[in-house]
Amino acid sequence: MSPAPLNLYDLTREQLRVQLVRWGLNPFHCARLWNYLYIELADSFAAMPELPAKVRAQLKAHARLGILATAQETDSSDGFTRKYLLSLDDAAAIETVLMRYTGRVTACISSQVGCAMGCVFCATGQMGYTRHLAAGEIVAQAVHVARALRVAREPRRLRNVVLMGMGEPLHNYESVMHAVDILRDDAGLALGAERITLSTVGVVPGILRLAREKRPVHLAVSLHAATQAERAALVPAARKWPLDELMAACRTYSETTRRRIFYEWTLIEGRNDSAGHARAVGELLRGLPAQVNLIPLNPTAGYAGAPTRSEAARNFQQILAVEFGVRSTVRQRRGIDIAAGCGQLAVAAG
Ligand code: SF4
Repeated sequence: MSPAPLNLYDLTREQLRVQLVRWGLNPFHCARLWNYLYIELADSFAAMPELPAKVRAQLKAHARLGILATAQETDSSDGFTRKYLLSLDDAAAIETVLMRYTGRVTACISSQVGCAMGCVFCATGQMGYTRHLAAGEIVAQAVHVARALRVAREPRRLRNVVLMGMGEPLHNYESVMHAVDILRDDAGLALGAERITLSTVGVVPGILRLAREKRPVHLAVSLHAATQAERAALVPAARKWPLDELMAACRTYSETTRRRIFYEWTLIEGRNDSAGHARAVGELLRGLPAQVNLIPLNPTAGYAGAPTRSEAARNFQQILAVEFGVRSTVRQRRGIDIAAGCGQLAVAAG
């Protein structure tokens, strides 16, 4: 039986060069092929006319472009967010979101089908875990957004990627880091060190490994509560990796990498948004290189909580700044009308 065709989005540029040699082709063609994949964003081998016919024939025989089909596409009413439900080869579906805030174009991409972490307020957590994404399936989401911008003749190109879609990226460490290497390539999408952010629910071994390997990504940690008991009630993963171990790992990460960590705090009315909660998180982060992102809850069918009102969110922010010198932003709940909270579109379509 002949091997399954190789997804070209799974390969770094060096791996592609080696692969061309294995197929009996001149590695000289690598630069042109890479350009077609990530600069011209070609959607078929036929759209690569400058490659010799022999090269295209070999590619057709042994490889494929792992382009993701759009099953559903929805724009938010404010025009800032577009959400794609994308189909994988095994008919599973993942979500990718194109965001245009503050003049920057960002793709929010998924790392798994579903998620094993089970955060109570999260639509993906409510779906459960199906499988990891391969690196090529992660890369293909960024390519999908870059191509959509090109097709729409938008003047801005994709500048940032956040791994905050479906799944826990540090649970799929190898594939995510391989994808990061491909996304960063200067001759391709060129999403360098300051342009990729990985969001974790607090997988301590993964945070320590990121620090050890000095991976060139920004780190965001979903905190949501400042005591072990409150956090474990919202984020079941906290029972495996308790708050004190998580904060020790975050300190190690910041000391080793000299990078600030973004701490995500989903604001849930009456649950974690009081002045007392603000002081608890202020104490926890005092003196650390930290920025808190306060995100009013995106309501989901599977969780009864409501988003914090604007005034309480501002008060929370004020306490962090004035009493603890901790910087924070309150994120707009844009895209709410297209269910742009993680996993909500896949749940609705399922
Ligand atoms: S919030 Fe993130 S880590 Fe938690 S269940 Fe949802 S996708 Fe998984």
